[in-house]
Amino acid sequence: MEAECKSVHDPFYCHHQRGNFSRHFMSMKPAMIGAKAERRVLFPGPIVVGAGPSGLAVAACLKDKGIPSLIFERSNCIASLWQLRTYDRLRLHLPKRFCELPLLPFPSWFPTYPTKQQFVAYLEAYVRQFDIQPVFNASVVAAEYDAAAGFWRVRTVSSGGGSEKERTEYVCRWVVVATGENAEAVVPEIAGLEEFKGPVVHTSLYRRGDVYRNKRVLVVGCGNSGMEVSLDLCNHNAHPSMVVRDSVHILPREMLGRSTFGLSMWLLKWLSVKTVDRFLLLVARLVLGDTSKFGLRRPQLGPLELKSHSGKTPVLDVGTLAKIKSGDIKVRPAVRRIMEHGAEFADGTVEEFDVVILATGYQSNVPRWLQEREFFSEKDGLPRRPFPNGWKGRNGLYAVGFTKRGLLGASLDALRIAQDIELCCKTDENCR
Ligand SMILES: Cc1cc2nc3c(=O)[nH]c(=O)nc-3n(C[C@H](O)[C@H](O)[C@H](O)COP(=O)(O)OP(=O)(O)OC[C@H]3O[C@@H](n4cnc5c(N)ncnc54)[C@H](O)[C@@H]3O)c2cc1C
Repeated sequence: MEAECKSVHDPFYCHHQRGNFSRHFMSMKPAMIGAKAERRVLFPGPIVVGAGPSGLAVAACLKDKGIPSLIFERSNCIASLWQLRTYDRLRLHLPKRFCELPLLPFPSWFPTYPTKQQFVAYLEAYVRQFDIQPVFNASVVAAEYDAAAGFWRVRTVSSGGGSEKERTEYVCRWVVVATGENAEAVVPEIAGLEEFKGPVVHTSLYRRGDVYRNKRVLVVGCGNSGMEVSLDLCNHNAHPSMVVRDSVHILPREMLGRSTFGLSMWLLKWLSVKTVDRFLLLVARLVLGDTSKFGLRRPQLGPLELKSHSGKTPVLDVGTLAKIKSGDIKVRPAVRRIMEHGAEFADGTVEEFDVVILATGYQSNVPRWLQEREFFSEKDGLPRRPFPNGWKGRNGLYAVGFTKRGLLGASLDALRIAQDIELCCKTDENCR
């Protein structure tokens, strides 16, 4: 029993018991210094921050090479974005073959666009397959490279169990940042928002439309989340109005019997981005019609060019456009100000609303805790170098899942990082 408890709370104990340490790590035993509340622990393998799909992918690739890692996750489960911060009707936006993690394909019986529940089940199977045991309820609050010692110092605060928070400093050679491009909800400053008398909800807290039945809902934002939440509201007999401040590319999810994403990737093997964009816009016009008639102006740059310049993802239509065309979802211009019971728009019109839903996106939280400014930008918390060069920093620092290319990009990062750390172990005396 005592051994069981220890194995749950002490990751080092687990590794030793199963004899999983690779030959290179056997000589570096973990050490604990200090009292329980202020522990210092030497961990001989890489520390991974975040147990989303990216962190799990890295841990699996490392495990496959015999390298144990230690994952810290601030919430109480894996893939917390998917499990705790997304709406019920969510499915993968891209076909499953572009979303599987390294070393384990999706079950063949999964549909082309798995539901979020299926995706989470896949990740749970992934964790079992590679025997990955993240440390839950452990937030990384600081990570800093100690140049004199040649090690990273990673500080965590654990809130599991009792009310007392446990602070620990981990010392390690490698830090893998896997906290995601969507770590924190973005709540923009909108004039008058604090005056609004009804609920104001970010999409990260939206689950399903039934609680908004018969309500007049202002959805601020028209990305994939804003479009899908508006559709969900409509399907639950609410009355959504969606704010489209700028221009937006909306594309059919499928074209010519193939996924738009898959078709674009295929065409890009032979054609330039501009040519593929022209093709996508031509087919989109034939399938969807002129979206500007419904208040959805297209940006000047084509969808793929815009994505590579600004990271802005085109919206893949899952039925929202039909509801916009039928008038069930209304399109509104930018909000000038929010009032107690409604909103005034940029064109001067005023309308009453019961609820405001902010589909205003997410941002990285890396600058809050990583004390490093060369590799990660302080401005947006993303690696400064764009894909495919944004996975490796200096002194054993890595980034996984910051490519603006979803799960496919994260998988590529994970494979590269594991290879690099393995190489380092083979060549670097300190690792032996
Ligand atoms: C609604 C929605 C739909 C999407 N659909 C798709 C899709 O179909 N296909 C696709 O490829 N991509 C999709 N994406 C993008 C998606 O975010 C990523 O593909 C995927 O979740 C990224 O995984 P990640 O591990 O990098 O980040 P996340 O899933 O965000 O995981 C990061 C983890 O790090 C933890 N964390 C953060 N900070 C700390 C800290 N300081 N200490 C400890 N832990 C921390 C978080 O709690 C979280 O569990 C979608 C995103 C959203 C929001």
